[in-house]
Formats: sequence, C-alpha cells, structure tokens
Amino acid sequence: MNAAPADQIRLLDVQALDTRLTQLAYKRNNLPEHEEIQRLDADLAQLRDLLVAAQTEESDTAREQTKAEQDVDQVRQRATRDQKRLDSGAVTNPKDLESLQSEIVSLAKRQGDLEDVVLEVMERRESVQERAAELTERVESVGARVQDAMGRRDAAVAEIDAEITRAGAERDTIAAVVPDDLLKLYDKIRAREGGVGAAKLYQRRCEGCRLELNITEVNDVRAAAPDEVLRCENCRRILVRTPESGL
Ligand SMILES: [Zn+2]
Repeated sequence: MNAAPADQIRLLDVQALDTRLTQLAYKRNNLPEHEEIQRLDADLAQLRDLLVAAQTEESDTAREQTKAEQDVDQVRQRATRDQKRLDSGAVTNPKDLESLQSEIVSLAKRQGDLEDVVLEVMERRESVQERAAELTERVESVGARVQDAMGRRDAAVAEIDAEITRAGAERDTIAAVVPDDLLKLYDKIRAREGGVGAAKLYQRRCEGCRLELNITEVNDVRAAAPDEVLRCENCRRILVRTPESGL
C-alpha cells in the first residue's frame, strides 16, 4: 500500500487522538467517585433499614405504653370505686367489708406493679427514640455525602465529556484527510492490537512493540520508497517514518 508521507504522519496524529479518547473513556468509567458513591449508597441503604426498624420498634413501644397506661387507669378507677363504697358506709356486713378492704390492698399492689411496667416501657421507648434520632442524623449526613460525591462525579464527567467531544472532533477532522484505504488498514490493526494501529519508528525502534529493528530491517526501511506504507516485522503495525527514525 502507498500513501503520501504527510498522510502517514497524519495517521500518527489520529493514533494519538484515539489513544487519548481511549484514556478518557477509561478515566470516565473509573472515576474514584463511582466507587465512593457505591460505597456510600450501600451504607445509606443499611442505615435506612436500621432506621425503619427503630421507627417500627418505637411505634410498637408507644402502643405498648398506651396499653400499660390503660391497665393502670383501669385498676386505679376500680380502687377509687371501692374506696368510695367503703367511705360511703353502705357496706356494713363484716365479711363484705373485709373482702372490700382486701381488694383495695391488692389493687394498690397491682397498680404499683403496672406502674413499674409503664416506667419500664417508657425507658425502652426513650432509648429507641434516641436510637432513631441518631440514625436519622446519620442517614442525613451520609445522604449529604452521597449528594456531594454525585456533584463531584457529574462535574468530572462533564469535564471529560467536553474533552472527548473536542478530541473526537479533532480526530474526525484529521482522519477525513487520511486516504480511506490507509485508515481502514489502521482501524483493522488497531482493533486487533489493543488500540494501537500505527506506530512511530523512533531511533530505529518500533514505538508499537518497543522492539529495535535489526540491521536487515533497517536496510529494508532505508530502501523503501517514502510513500510505501511499512509494517513492523514484529507486531505488524503500520510503521511511520519521521525525521527522528534514526535512518
Ligand atoms: Zn512493532
């Protein structure tokens, strides 16, 4: 294949831009913010689960407290009723009197026990409320960190995208001038050879595979016409001569 030396040099420019575009795509996919957001999102999901559990426990405990307070009220009302009957003097039968007094005593004991239950439930409720409040704060704080990381990620992506657009436009402009058959060959080799289709011959070394040409190969390159498209004998990439080729 033949191509004007200037077009071969242009191919190196296309290659440099393609390499740049590959690096930018890699950078875009591997921003540290991606991992950071993923990690924070996992933390956030876990904290939200804990918060929901704490809130559920809090409302269960609130119901438990209401129930315990109602139990106390019931006993208190009954004791008040009994006391009124006793004070009214309506009960005169000694046996009935004794039974009424003994009920008042046992109701007082029962009320004391139930009030202890109320206190115990209130303590549990207070502790779960504290836990829920602490978890709410942590959810908010981690949520803010997620927002911050997303903001940084979006800014970084926007910057990279702008650079990709610039480099892509430049690549297309230069590639449009390179002869089609040379560009096709370049694309084919590039796809096969890890993104590098054209390499500079620099100080007798192929910059694609980094191998130095042997003397026979150097002589072949020297003998070749300037518009002949050369290939590296080792990596088969398009080998482009420049004033720095050391020929
Ligand atoms: Zn090579």
